Amino acid sequence: MLTIQNAIDGRKVTSASSRVAQVFNPATGEAIADLPLSTSAEVAAAVSAAKAAAPAWGAMPPMKRAKVLFKFKDLLESRADDIARAISREHGKTHPDALGELQRGIDVVDFACGIPHLLKGEFSRNVGPDIDSWSDRQPLGVVAGITPFNFPVMVPMWMFPVAIACGNTFVLKPSERDPSSTLLIWELLQEAGLPKGVFNVVHGDKEAVDAILDHPDIAAVSFVGSTPIAEYIYARGTAKGKRIQALGGAKNHMIVMPDADIDQAVDALMGAGYGSAGERCMAISVAVPVGETTANKLVEALAPKVRALKVGPATDPEAEMGPVVTAEAKRRITSLIDQGVKEGADLVVDGRGLVLQGYENGFFLGGSLFDRVTPEMAIYKQEIFGPVLSVVRAGSFDEAAGLINAHEYGNGTAIFTRDGDAARAFADKIEVGMVGINVPIPVPVAYHSFGGWKRSLFGDHSIYGPEGVRFYTRLKTVTARWPTGIRKGAEFNFPSLK
Ligand code: NAD
Repeated sequence: MLTIQNAIDGRKVTSASSRVAQVFNPATGEAIADLPLSTSAEVAAAVSAAKAAAPAWGAMPPMKRAKVLFKFKDLLESRADDIARAISREHGKTHPDALGELQRGIDVVDFACGIPHLLKGEFSRNVGPDIDSWSDRQPLGVVAGITPFNFPVMVPMWMFPVAIACGNTFVLKPSERDPSSTLLIWELLQEAGLPKGVFNVVHGDKEAVDAILDHPDIAAVSFVGSTPIAEYIYARGTAKGKRIQALGGAKNHMIVMPDADIDQAVDALMGAGYGSAGERCMAISVAVPVGETTANKLVEALAPKVRALKVGPATDPEAEMGPVVTAEAKRRITSLIDQGVKEGADLVVDGRGLVLQGYENGFFLGGSLFDRVTPEMAIYKQEIFGPVLSVVRAGSFDEAAGLINAHEYGNGTAIFTRDGDAARAFADKIEVGMVGINVPIPVPVAYHSFGGWKRSLFGDHSIYGPEGVRFYTRLKTVTARWPTGIRKGAEFNFPSLK
């Protein structure tokens, strides 16, 4: 069986850890690799390599750092199919979906290639007599990323391209469920000419994460994953004096107004609810039709489409949706569906118990659709993170928006309508970080920034884009004058321009 290695200081190394996790192919249910869970000493070795590489990399002209990223981008594009296949083998998502994830990561590399411009500071001449002042953003040093299973390539690429472009060095702790694709990415970075130690990969679980949070030489940590862990990372990391951005879970609602085009809304819900088996933090998991007529039309149109979803392994070009990631995820999703039924929701389409011929041991679920879900139910409160869409019927726009504002999560949301007033009120008043108007998955493009509100993000910075540059740099302001501008005599009053 393949043993997945760490990548530290320009070399692949096999972890000496005695604790080993298994990586599965979710389509077949087979264990396909062993993943040693790195020790804190191995994290320390990666940090020390990153620390050694930081001064030279941080001092390199940004244009030269950008050249490495340009080369990296070319390599990502030429190896796209291999990377997508590596993602699907361990995650289960379809090939086109994996290619889409990779492309959104490449877009961030594209953005990071513009780093000379992004790091340009501000200059003011004559802030005082013969005194000039300038501000610029300087790297933090060693930074780390801890990432979830659902986008094994894109989410790390929300982080490290911007971090290293800014002049930092990086330690990545990928998800233990689908770790292989990050090693491919590491190889391409080496091929692109990245100096050793600038980007290191350490696989592991809580032990490695805690070692990152506690290490005094790590200045900042980016985390993406579930809310309880995000909250933990934020609390422990900030207590150790680190800068932290910790992106958490979601429960994304889509309001369907009575004037919306129902066919468009249904297509949007199918893709946003069931794409990637619902394992996206920007998946729509709650549809909120306004008015009984809208609700009846929506459920009637959705049900046959959910029943007809083509579920299959990533190797099946016809598949619209793959398996969920692990047997445990399948059990958790199934038991939440059981609970929804027990709590009185109307299970219009039941995706439990799907068995695919030839893939009997795969972690497959069909699409499920609940109607008449209410805010007290567990399936409404919790993030299910599976192919399950809940319909919550609302009597008015205000009631629908009120539901969203009352929910603990505030990652993404959408409204489908032709009514400009409703759309504008929605964009203005909704307490969610990323809002779509007739756009079901409003993931910001790479030159904007991604981040939720409320318990979907802990910290002050969204990720990638301009916010990413701010997160991975600190501001320095220099005030300067030259000897001819210096007046004689000591000045005891606080300097001012009076
Ligand atoms: P997860 O929280 O289980 O794991 C994320 C990372 O945290 C992994 O690297 C894991 O090894 C580590 N981890 C897990 N348990 C830990 C513990 N007890 N102590 C320290 N570290 C621990 O998340 P997941 O299941 O891999 O991913 C799915 C979750 O991620 C969903 O909640 C989803 O909404 C969220 N997510 C959010 C965003 C976003 O941008 N807000 C994006 C993608 C995924």
